[in-house]
Amino acid sequence: MTDRTAEALRALDALLAEDPGARGIARFRPRDALGGAARALLEAGGAAITTGFPRGDVGETDGPPGAFALGAALAALGARVVHLTDARCAPLLVALGAAPLEVADPAPGDRAAAEALLARLDVTHLVSIERPGRAADGTYRNMRGLDISTRTAALDEVFLLALEPGPWRRTTVCVGDGGNEVGMGNVRAGVIDAVAHGEAIASVVGADHLVVAGVSNWGAYGLVAALSLLAGRDLLPTPDEARAHVGAIVAAGAVDGVTGLTAPTVDGLPLERTLDLLAALRRVLRATSGGRRGARA
Ligand code: ZN
Ligand code: ZN
Repeated sequence: MTDRTAEALRALDALLAEDPGARGIARFRPRDALGGAARALLEAGGAAITTGFPRGDVGETDGPPGAFALGAALAALGARVVHLTDARCAPLLVALGAAPLEVADPAPGDRAAAEALLARLDVTHLVSIERPGRAADGTYRNMRGLDISTRTAALDEVFLLALEPGPWRRTTVCVGDGGNEVGMGNVRAGVIDAVAHGEAIASVVGADHLVVAGVSNWGAYGLVAALSLLAGRDLLPTPDEARAHVGAIVAAGAVDGVTGLTAPTVDGLPLERTLDLLAALRRVLRATSGGRRGARA
């Protein structure tokens, strides 16, 4: 890796450190995790990407757009991609056109179901973008500390299985923003220290590679930018695509996880904030690629 690439990866990573919700992510965010996570994903022959944070009878606007963009990027790089969510969040993935889509609702502790699911997925890598990860007491919690276990399928069971040495071992790459998502087990002590209701909500489910961003969609876009950098081609969604993705899931019933409103906002932020972040990521790619082929789209 050239110095220039390493410097650009650090610049991309720094953009993800922005904490618009003032959640205190600086106190638990692994620094410069983006490069390692992206290089791991470049090795993926097959990747299952799970997302969907339940809220009421539907899912939140944070997660599915990022998962879809990352899936498109990995598919463009030649990986076989399968999307994974539960029945409650499935309409959002369908609205995005995320295909193929596996819908599963395993119960916590049902190892046989997790093994069957992982066998069916038939992938080398598991990716989670803003998917609830169980807390120390086995419940799933939202950022307000409320128990959402009755509406949360235990898709984290597959990640626990994939982290065990043995035949089910797979590479896991996870993105979160609040401490209660799959992957945050890596930084649990920091989450407890930094986040409101941290002790109750901090997930115990870890990951091989954990990317923390101020908004999980942003973390996923950061991964796409890092893949773009390493592959030498711009794989990021255009502003129109990013806007359309959020519009599509809101039309399918998605709600903002912070405001609770069915509106084209993510974590209480207007869409313009996401478009600004995408533009900043793209500026890093362009500054790095110079005249290099394919990275100027
Ligand atoms: Zn979150
Ligand atoms: Zn979020």
